[in-house]
Amino acid sequence: MLITDLDLGEIMTHYDAIIIGGRPAGASLAVHLARGGMTVLVVDRATFPSKPAIPSMPLILPHTLDLLDEIGIPESVSANAGSKLLRLLLEMNGHYAVEIDFGQAMAGDSRRPYFYSIRRDPFDNALWENLSQFDNITARQEFGVTKLLTDDAGKVTGIEGANGEQITADVVVGADGRFSFVANQVNAAPFNEVSDYNTDFYFAYWRGGTYDHEDWSHTMHVYSSTQGYQYLIFPVSDNEVAVSVQMVHDLFPKPANQSIEDYYEAQLQKYPQLWHQIQGAERISQVWGMKNIRNGYREVGGNGWVLVGDAAHYKDSIDGQGIYDALLGAKILAAHLIDWKAGKHSWEAAVEQYRAALLDATYDMFMETQGRLKREVHDEPPQFVVTQILRRVMEDPTYQKQFIGYATRRFEPKGWASPQLMLEALVRGFGRDLRKLFS
Ligand SMILES: Cc1cc2nc3c(=O)[nH]c(=O)nc-3n(C[C@H](O)[C@H](O)[C@H](O)COP(=O)(O)OP(=O)(O)OC[C@H]3O[C@@H](n4cnc5c(N)ncnc54)[C@H](O)[C@@H]3O)c2cc1C
Repeated sequence: MLITDLDLGEIMTHYDAIIIGGRPAGASLAVHLARGGMTVLVVDRATFPSKPAIPSMPLILPHTLDLLDEIGIPESVSANAGSKLLRLLLEMNGHYAVEIDFGQAMAGDSRRPYFYSIRRDPFDNALWENLSQFDNITARQEFGVTKLLTDDAGKVTGIEGANGEQITADVVVGADGRFSFVANQVNAAPFNEVSDYNTDFYFAYWRGGTYDHEDWSHTMHVYSSTQGYQYLIFPVSDNEVAVSVQMVHDLFPKPANQSIEDYYEAQLQKYPQLWHQIQGAERISQVWGMKNIRNGYREVGGNGWVLVGDAAHYKDSIDGQGIYDALLGAKILAAHLIDWKAGKHSWEAAVEQYRAALLDATYDMFMETQGRLKREVHDEPPQFVVTQILRRVMEDPTYQKQFIGYATRRFEPKGWASPQLMLEALVRGFGRDLRKLFS
């Protein structure tokens, strides 16, 4: 049930679970809990449709589509919110470009051989609207939680809204993003933080342009400077693209007197091949940005509260896992909350099992994300490595299969790019070059 002002008389004052935040983590958790028979209140301070307060220009990969199916969000939602992408084009500092055909790299995998770029406003709105089909979910937008209610023993027992309204629940869930209000209120301690590879990220939408690739509307371009910054351009509709720059944190600090728009465009101009692509294009949105993107986990639960999604595990977007991890974390948490509610486990055991399962499902990928940030943004490889080694490795079909397989969680993230794979890919690359030379 989606609540409007007119329905306020129907609102219950106690629920099995209150979820603060109604985007990927909160909206999917609500569905799983409702299917498990629990009564759920989802509140969000936003008005839908809207973008999240934390900017995001996401890709939806095949494994994310599978989890969306499970909560009743069909592929058409992602398709209508953005563009279908069939390949990646990786350009290395103007030296060469390597094309990865996504479908070919997924050969032998039964999942969908393509991915989507999406706009968050229609996508998140579909997640929110999806809640209305469950009688045991109440969803209230424009409800900002300003206080957590606690009992004498310090147990979190409910929430208070900006208008002083109080609602209680058996458990209060913070699905409220990387700067989580709930985490802040309960002092959820960060752990497993990695702070060596933080980046700054800025993006905006553009219309028009002179894109070189014949099928640019299905192509995601990555431009790597190999000197501490890289760019993405991908279509989000027939004639609109998202353009981002990601940099080693504070590599190019913004002068105090420069607007964020001028700063962003100055970063784009540093890479002539990229700047050329958007010549003639018009920037049609504001510039969003985030500095010093942190990477880590927070304690996931305590007396009467739990965290899920970015609130529990926040990380860089370089490999597009945030929405997947939010959906996966919600699914894992729901199973433990439903068992706890059914009396199968104590509260403490449910939180401990959720913590262990979340780490098991995400930690190796998280560390691989850090590895990619190091290799692809922070490291500055010598030119001969870029021109003589990386091209041969990246062009290798087996390497491409491993790369897409790990990014879509088909293969174990840990060690997906083993020294043996890299060496063999390099040898095969030399072989290909020799054959070309003599053919
Ligand atoms: C630049 C960038 C690029 C990204 N690219 C990708 C990508 O390619 N693929 C991908 O999968 N992920 C990507 N992500 C990550 C993705 O955006 C997040 O992982 C995802 O949004 C997390 O979902 P969530 O539901 O946990 O939190 P959010 O989407 O942040 O939602 C939190 C909600 O909580 C609400 N809220 C907060 N506090 C309160 C309060 N006190 N009262 C009421 N409501 C409250 C907010 O209004 C918000 O709606 C990217 C992120 C960034 C920053």
